[in-house]
Amino acid sequence: MKKIIRVCQLIVILLLMVSCFSEEFPHELKELGYTVEDLKSFKHLEKTILAGKIPKVFFEEVRQYSVFQPQNLLDYYFLHLQGYSIIQSLNRINHPNFLSWEDKTYPAITVEGIILVNSKYGLSWGFFPTELVNLQGVGFIKRPNETMQIKKSALSAYSLLYQAMQSQQLEPLVFSAYRPYEKQKTLWEEADPLNRMYLAKPGHSEHQTGLALDIASMESGLTDYFENTIVFHFLSKHAHEFGFILRYPKNKEHITGYPYEAWHYRYVGIFHAQRMHEQNLCLEEYLYFNYPLPLNPN
Ligand SMILES: [Zn+2]
Repeated sequence: MKKIIRVCQLIVILLLMVSCFSEEFPHELKELGYTVEDLKSFKHLEKTILAGKIPKVFFEEVRQYSVFQPQNLLDYYFLHLQGYSIIQSLNRINHPNFLSWEDKTYPAITVEGIILVNSKYGLSWGFFPTELVNLQGVGFIKRPNETMQIKKSALSAYSLLYQAMQSQQLEPLVFSAYRPYEKQKTLWEEADPLNRMYLAKPGHSEHQTGLALDIASMESGLTDYFENTIVFHFLSKHAHEFGFILRYPKNKEHITGYPYEAWHYRYVGIFHAQRMHEQNLCLEEYLYFNYPLPLNPN
C-alpha cells in the first residue's frame, strides 16, 4: 500500500511539473506552429520569433541554408513578407552591396560551379586554372613568342561556336585568352593611370580564370566599332546557345564594375548561359537572384 501511495505521489509531482512547463510555453509560439521541443533548440531566438511573429514554416526553411545567420532572422523574414524569395532575402541581407560599387575586395567565390571574378572579387597570384590547353582549330591573332591558352572545356565549346560562325562565312578572331596574374600585374603597372579604368587590377581579370575570350573581327579589333559588325550580331544572338555570355554588357556597368566591352565573352556552360540570356541578367545579377551566395570573410 505504501508503495502505491509513493507511486501516486510521484505521478502527481510529474503532472505538476509538466503543467508548469506547458504554462510557460507561450501561446503565441504555439499558434506560430512551434512545439516545446522547438523551443528547447531555439530558446535564444524566442524573442525574435515572437517580435516578428515568424511562423515555424518560414524558420524551418530559411535555416536549411548554410549561409543563414540567426542574428538576421528578423530581417530575412521582413524582406520575405515584402515578396522576396528566401534566397533573395538571404542575399539582400548578407550581401547588401553585392550589386553596387564598393571600396573593398574579397576573394573570388564559386557558386554553382561558376567562379565569379570582377572588380570586387579577385583571385590570388597563386591561382592557376587546371586543364589549360593551347588555342587551336579556331581563328586567333598570332603574336611573336605568345601561345594563347584556354581551359579545355571552354575551347571545346568555342570550337563549336566558331564552326557555326564559319558556316555563315564569318571569321572571328580571338585577341586574348588566358592571362596569368603576373601578366595582368605588368599591364596594370605599365598602364597610363588615366586608362586604368579600362583595365582590371591584378587578380581581378576574368582572363586569369582561363574561361574568358576577347573575340572580335579583323576589321574592328578590340574597339567600339566591333558592335557594328556581323560577327558581333551573330554572337549576340547565338553565343548563349554554346555556353558563352557577354560578360560586361551595356547598362550593367554599375553592377559588373567594368565598362561595356562588346568583345569580352565568358564560358559558363549552356544551362547557365541560356538562363542568363532569357532573364537578361549579367552574371552578378544571375547569381544574386538565383543562388544563396557564400558569406564574405570578415
Ligand atoms: Zn577581356
